[in-house]
Amino acid sequence: MQIPMNKVCKKCGTGYEITDDDLKFYDRLQIPSPGFCPTCRKIRRLTWRNENSFYSRKCDLCGKSIISVFSPDKPHKVYCNKCWWSDAWNPLDYGTDFDFSRPFFEQFAELHRKVPQLAMMNDDGVGSENCEYCQDFSFGKNCYLVTAAWEIRDSLYCNSCCHVKDFVDCSSVNVDCELVYESTNSQKLYHCAFLELSYNCSDCYFGADLRGCKNCFMCVGLRNKEFYIFNKPYSKEEYQKKNAGFQMDSYRELQSLKKQFYEFYVQFPRRAVTQINSENCTGDNLYNCKDVTGFDCFNSEYCKYLNRSDSPKNSYDLWQCGNSQWCCDSMTPDNSYETCFTVWCWKDKNVFYSDNCHSSGDLFGCVSLKREKFCIFNKKYTKEEYENLRDRIVEHMRGTGEWGEFFSSELSPFCYNETLAQDFYPLTKEQAVEFGYAWKEEDFRSNKPQKFGVPDRIADVTDDILSELLACKKCSRNFKIMPLELKFYKKMAIAVPENCPRCRREERLNRCSKMELWERNCDNCGKKIKAVYPPDAGVKVYCEECYLGEVL
Ligand SMILES: [Zn+2]
Ligand SMILES: [Zn+2]
Ligand SMILES: [Zn+2]
Ligand SMILES: [Zn+2]
Repeated sequence: MQIPMNKVCKKCGTGYEITDDDLKFYDRLQIPSPGFCPTCRKIRRLTWRNENSFYSRKCDLCGKSIISVFSPDKPHKVYCNKCWWSDAWNPLDYGTDFDFSRPFFEQFAELHRKVPQLAMMNDDGVGSENCEYCQDFSFGKNCYLVTAAWEIRDSLYCNSCCHVKDFVDCSSVNVDCELVYESTNSQKLYHCAFLELSYNCSDCYFGADLRGCKNCFMCVGLRNKEFYIFNKPYSKEEYQKKNAGFQMDSYRELQSLKKQFYEFYVQFPRRAVTQINSENCTGDNLYNCKDVTGFDCFNSEYCKYLNRSDSPKNSYDLWQCGNSQWCCDSMTPDNSYETCFTVWCWKDKNVFYSDNCHSSGDLFGCVSLKREKFCIFNKKYTKEEYENLRDRIVEHMRGTGEWGEFFSSELSPFCYNETLAQDFYPLTKEQAVEFGYAWKEEDFRSNKPQKFGVPDRIADVTDDILSELLACKKCSRNFKIMPLELKFYKKMAIAVPENCPRCRREERLNRCSKMELWERNCDNCGKKIKAVYPPDAGVKVYCEECYLGEVL
C-alpha cells in the first residue's frame, strides 16, 4: 500500500498531490503513482499524437503512393491501411527476446522502428468512404483533413467532431449538427457560423453561449430568443431587413464582422467553466459527467486528467477516448479495459506499454498486433511463461525508473511541432531543442506565389478556383479549394478564406481554452474560483452564481 503524498515533478520541478483516492486507483491497477505532474504527463502523451502533419510517401509493402502521419524521412516501416490490416505479413515475425542488461524503453524504440506502422489511423475503404486524408477517424463519408472524428459526412478541416454533416472549420462541435462553419465547443447546431459554447441553435451567426436560439446575429448569453441583433430584439421584418446588411458573402465584410463581434463579446463576463448536468467535477466543457477532472468530456464517471473523451469510467490520464475502463496514461484506448501506457490500443484487455495493438489481451511491450494473447516484444508465450517474464520485466523497470511512466517523448516517432503538444504547449524551435525535443523544419521557400485573384464575393467565385493553387496570406503555404468546400461556401453564402487550413485552425484554437485551469477571483463577488481563462486573458470572469444571476 502506498501513502498519500505531495510529490515534486521529475520533469518541471512543480509540486503536485497524490491523494488517497489516487492511490486506490493506482493500487487497483498495481502500478506506482507517476513521477511527472499532470501537465507534464499530458505533454508527454501529446508528443505521441500527430493529428495535423500529413505527408505523401510510399507503402513499404505494396509500393503504392499514400498519405501518412509518418514523413518519408522517418526510419519507420509504414504500410497502407489495406496492407497493414491484411494477412500478407505477420507482426510476430519481428518478435525479440527482452534483454535484462538494457532499459525497457530503449528496446521498445528499436522494436517500434522495425515493426510496420499504420500509415493513418482511419478505416477508409472499410467503415469509411472517400476519407483517406483523415486521422483518428471512422465511419465517415466524403471528408477531407478531418481528425479525431467519427460518424461524420461531407466535412472538411474539422477536429473532434462527431455525429455531424456539412461541416467546415469546426472544433469540438458534436451531436446532430448540420451546416456549420467556424464554430467551437457546441452541440446541436443547424445552419450556424462563428458560434462558440452554444447549444440547440439554428440560423445563428457570430454568437457565444447561446441556448435554444434561432435567427440571432452577434449575440452573447441569450436563452430561447429569436430575431436578436447585438442582444436587442427586433420584429421578424426588421431583423430580415437589418440582417441583409451584414454581408458574410464578402471576404472584406466578413473580416469587419469578425472584428465587431469580438469587440462586442469582450464586454461580457465569461463563465469560469462550463459544466452541464454534471456532478462533483473539476474542469471545463463537461456534459453529463460525475466525479471527473477533465476537459471536453461527455458521459464520464470517476475519471481524472481526462481530455476529449466519451463514456470512460474509472480511468486516469487519457486523451481522446471512448468507453475505456480502468485505463491509465494512454492515448485513445477505445473500448479497452485495464490498458495502461498505450497508444492506439483498441478493444484490448490487460495491455501495457504497447502501440497500435487491437482486439488483444495480455500484451506487454508490443507493436502492431491484432487478436493476440500473451505476447511480450511481439513474441508469443504460454500463459505461465508470459506472467513470469512480465513480472521480471516490471521488476527490471522499477530499477530503471521506467515502471509507471508513459513512453518518453524522445521515443516518439514525431517531432514536437508535428504533434498536438505544439498546439497546446507551443514552443519555439530553440526552446524545443533546449528541452530535448525533435523539431521538424518546414521549407517555406518552396511555396509558390498565388497567380489567381480570388473574387471578394462568393457569388463571383467560379469553378475555376478548383484548379488553382492559392497561397496563404498569413504563412505563404499553398492550399487548394476542394469541390465539396466550394459547394459549402456557396450554400452558406460565405466568402472563400484567404488563409490556409492550418492558419485557420491555429486561429480557432486560440479562441478555445487551452484546457488548463487558473486560480483567480470572480470579477463580480471576489470569490476564489478556478477558470479556463488565465488572469491576464483580458476578459471579465464570473463564478457560476454571479454568471447565472447577473448575465442571464
Ligand atoms: Zn511537471
Ligand atoms: Zn500497401
Ligand atoms: Zn497559413
Ligand atoms: Zn461571483
